[in-house]
Amino acid sequence: MNEYIGYKRDEASYFNAARSFTADKLRTCPVCGKSWPKWLWKEEYQFMSEQYGLFGRMYHFLCPDCESILKIREGDVSGYACSKSTFEGMMKKAKGKDNLTIYVIVEKIGDGIKNEGNSDWEGKEFPLPEMLKKLRDDK
Ligand SMILES: [Zn+2]
Repeated sequence: MNEYIGYKRDEASYFNAARSFTADKLRTCPVCGKSWPKWLWKEEYQFMSEQYGLFGRMYHFLCPDCESILKIREGDVSGYACSKSTFEGMMKKAKGKDNLTIYVIVEKIGDGIKNEGNSDWEGKEFPLPEMLKKLRDDK
């Protein structure tokens, strides 16, 4: 798994935003449907708004069961963007998004699970509930 260098699962620290997030909001992999996958993740700083020169963290979550990679913004992982009164929340609202919904950017669909239904997901952003609904409907 050379291409997954940098991904880790942090069991050591008590408080970890990414781990809390996977335990709370990402209990099912929205690509393969596996319950409680042992997500691996890495963090990356990148522009959240070129316009305002804002940097923020982007989390990359790797499902070890289907090897798909999902990107989720720090505001959604930490929950700050779920409130309309935080800066992250106002930015989210300004983009026409629902504050309480988690948005997922599909970075990669694992080779073993790619099919007609999901092969065009790569590079696109979806509300997490919509992905989970698709998964249920396809079964
Ligand atoms: Zn998966």
